[in-house]
Amino acid sequence: PIYLDHHATTPLDPRVQDAMLPFFNALFGNAGSAEHRYGWRAQEAVEDARARVAALVGARSAEIVFTSGATEANNIALMGSGDHAKRHLITTGIEHASVAACAAERERRGGPITILPVDRDGRIDPAQVATAIRPDTGLISIALANHEIGAIQPLDDIGNLARRHGILFHVDATQAAGHIPVSLPALQADFLSLSAHKLHGPTGVGALVVTRQARRHLRPILFGGDQERGFRPGTLPVPLIVGFGAAAEIAREAMPEESLHLAALRGRLLDRLAVLPGLRVHGGMRFRLPGNLNVGWPGLVARDLIDLLRDHVALSSGSACGSATLHPSPVLRAIGLTAEEALGGLRFGLGRFTTEAEVERAATAILRAAPLLRR
Ligand code: PLP
Repeated sequence: PIYLDHHATTPLDPRVQDAMLPFFNALFGNAGSAEHRYGWRAQEAVEDARARVAALVGARSAEIVFTSGATEANNIALMGSGDHAKRHLITTGIEHASVAACAAERERRGGPITILPVDRDGRIDPAQVATAIRPDTGLISIALANHEIGAIQPLDDIGNLARRHGILFHVDATQAAGHIPVSLPALQADFLSLSAHKLHGPTGVGALVVTRQARRHLRPILFGGDQERGFRPGTLPVPLIVGFGAAAEIAREAMPEESLHLAALRGRLLDRLAVLPGLRVHGGMRFRLPGNLNVGWPGLVARDLIDLLRDHVALSSGSACGSATLHPSPVLRAIGLTAEEALGGLRFGLGRFTTEAEVERAATAILRAAPLLRR
């Protein structure tokens, strides 16, 4: 099937695979072994990758804490930051589950939270962040780009605002990094979450960027070693980290051209789908990840279409499936869709290797199938 689900994961870039392979074999050392060449070589590779990941987001090497992915990075940021006096959390209603569930857990442990609404485009109003700040606010956590509707948030003023109030600022940049420019200095964020498998790197590795100023406000959530300044103890997965570094460097170089290519393909997909009357676009088009599209037709249940086309196109509905019932996407509900409309949301994620011919074929298949399923 044609793969149009790049927000879930992206295929490994072959250049990334080439960079990783020696570290599964000849260069198998433990980056923590300081007494021999095997260790030194592994450590050198990790530090090289660290610099490449840092460069992608304008951070310093010393600020990168490698993790198993963005879920873990989000957990460290949300569960490891904030003292008891300042525990109020401000976040949004469209965060990824790894942030939303941490927010819920903080609340269960007695920490108040404020969940900001978003508009129909899926964007927060920065003025509402300012209004939500209380004397006991300790952390603001907002994703730069949304995983379902690709909405890019206006975060420019929030870092500054947080700093003035002595509040920590966490940005989940998992869907943004490698696809749109991400600058830690411009965001003035304290913590930034990243994941390699969203930018054609390997699954199972990510990073939490922890700025030098924020370091003293963070406590580890895992214990047992002094790797990664103690914030993430455990033997480093050298091949994965090398892959992350290679993927970050390729993404940084490819981004200007790739984003234009993706936006053009996305425009073509939208034009083709719009041929079938009633098409609704979920979220705004102006501030959106270039490879993202989320649409629906009245009376069409996304899961029905996805099931019917399973041999031809791989895409996602964004709705979680319980044992028997479908749960509408909280993101689509938050931008004002009814539960029924939200169940109709088709999430497209185009990627580096998506071709025009694939978009054409996918659109043709969808246009053929959709009218058969509309109720
Ligand atoms: N944050 C966002 C916005 C995501 O889209 C995802 C993945 O879907 C994650 C975090 C979790 O990333 P990982 O798969 O690396 O744990």
